[in-house]
Amino acid sequence: MARHDWRGSQSDFYLDTMSTHKVIMEEKTRTCSGMTTRILFAVFLLFSGQRFLFAGDDEKWNTQKSEHFIVYYKEVKEDFVRKTVENAEEYYKSIAEELGFTRYNFWRWDNRAKIYIYNNAEDYQEKTGKPSWSGGVASYHEKAIETYPWAQGFFQSLLPHELGHIIFREFIGIQNNAPIWLDEGVAMYQEKFRRKDIKKKLLKAIEERKLIPLTKLSEINIMFVKDTEVVDLYYTEAISVVEYLITKFGRDNFVRLCKALKERKNFDQAIEESYRVFKNLEELDKGWLRYVKE
Ligand SMILES: [Zn+2]
Repeated sequence: MARHDWRGSQSDFYLDTMSTHKVIMEEKTRTCSGMTTRILFAVFLLFSGQRFLFAGDDEKWNTQKSEHFIVYYKEVKEDFVRKTVENAEEYYKSIAEELGFTRYNFWRWDNRAKIYIYNNAEDYQEKTGKPSWSGGVASYHEKAIETYPWAQGFFQSLLPHELGHIIFREFIGIQNNAPIWLDEGVAMYQEKFRRKDIKKKLLKAIEERKLIPLTKLSEINIMFVKDTEVVDLYYTEAISVVEYLITKFGRDNFVRLCKALKERKNFDQAIEESYRVFKNLEELDKGWLRYVKE
């Protein structure tokens, strides 16, 4: 089972002590709006043998269903629920379309994704056992997101990011060794506001000789990186490579790459088969660098 915790603030380290898992990564990203800098932070965990802690199955949930989602809620304003359903459907469509997954409509009826909305932060923490910084948790295996109404970043960040992970993982398979930066790149790419200023940041990193080669990016366990500049660069590069793969070569190639990864081919093999112009990660790195400098 895979789980992805979403952290709304703070920047210190977090390990989910509940589970006997391998912590694959954590992520810290910065968003700047005017004077305020907020650190969004999530932890992505892969572990097994533990049930996803849904809001107590004994509780009565109201539901609102749409084509691809079932939203469970209790005493949450209808307005928020409606907005959640609308946004989730819109994101589902745009993400699937952007990644080229539309022909593989695997999310209907009994297979719909679930979004559990707790009444508030206290309710969420109490029922899920999550700490106070957590703004939501997603399980790829259960295809579910648990959260509560919190204004900042919910519709703009958490929802598209987690849906990006869930859709990507559902396609390539949960127990897949695809590079984590690719998974994160796909998820971050869905947070549209993050696509801005990428080129500027990367050119600056190139100038300062700080750019991380993709072979190194694949080796980094971002979990153990404390330098926020490196973390920021990791994500910026990840988004940029995903953007490069999708916008320069089209969705069909990206789908081919995902299919090859689904078949458990290693990344070099998968990239060669699907893109032809690259024989391996080093060649992708070179092509991507040219694109950044264009
Ligand atoms: Zn993520």
